[in-house]
Amino acid sequence: MSLARIRHWVFDMDGTLTLAVHDFAAIKRALDIPQEDDILGHLAALPADVSAAKHRWLLEHERGLALASKPAKGAVELVRELAGRGYCLGILTRNARELAHVTLEAIGIADCFAIADVLGRDEAAPKPDPGGLLKLARAWGVQPADMVMVGDHQFDLACGREAGAQTVLVNTPQNPWPQLTDWHAADCTAIQAMIGPDG
Ligand SMILES: [Mg+2]
Repeated sequence: MSLARIRHWVFDMDGTLTLAVHDFAAIKRALDIPQEDDILGHLAALPADVSAAKHRWLLEHERGLALASKPAKGAVELVRELAGRGYCLGILTRNARELAHVTLEAIGIADCFAIADVLGRDEAAPKPDPGGLLKLARAWGVQPADMVMVGDHQFDLACGREAGAQTVLVNTPQNPWPQLTDWHAADCTAIQAMIGPDG
C-alpha cells in the first residue's frame, strides 16, 4: 500500500493538526487525578455527579485552549490539498466534538470536514479503542485497510492498528512505537511530500 493511493484520511486533532497545548499534568492536578491515570478513564469511574462536574471544568478549560489553537506545521496545507482532491477526511479526537469544531475554525480548516465525520469523545469510544475508525469506515463504505489514521500519540497508532487501518506517526521526532507505525513523518509538510502531486 502506498500512502499516495489512500483516499480516506482520519486525523487526530491536538498535537497533530494543531500545536500541542494541553498540559495534561496541570489538568490532572486541577482535577485531583493521579498523574499515572488516564483522564477520561478516571472520570468515567467516578460517581456521576462528581464526574459531571469535572467534565464541565474540563470542557471550559479546553474551550479556552480551542479558541487559541494554532496549526501544526504544514497541517492546513495538507488538509486543503487532500480536501481539494475530493478525499474523505475525518477527525477522531479524545476532545469534545463541539470543541473540535471551535479548533478547526480557529485554524481555518473547518470547511474541509463534514460535521458527521468529526468524532469526539461522545461520538465514539476513546482511542485506543478502534470504534471511531470503524464507524467512519462504515459511514464511508470502505475497508479499514484503505484508510489511514494520522496522529502524534501511541493511542492514535494503536487505534489504527486495531481497526486494521494504515498508520502515520507525525510531529514526534523519535518513534517509540515502530511496531504500530506504517509511516513516520516529521510533520504534515513531510506527509504532503510523501503523497506527491495529485494524479
Ligand atoms: Mg494528539
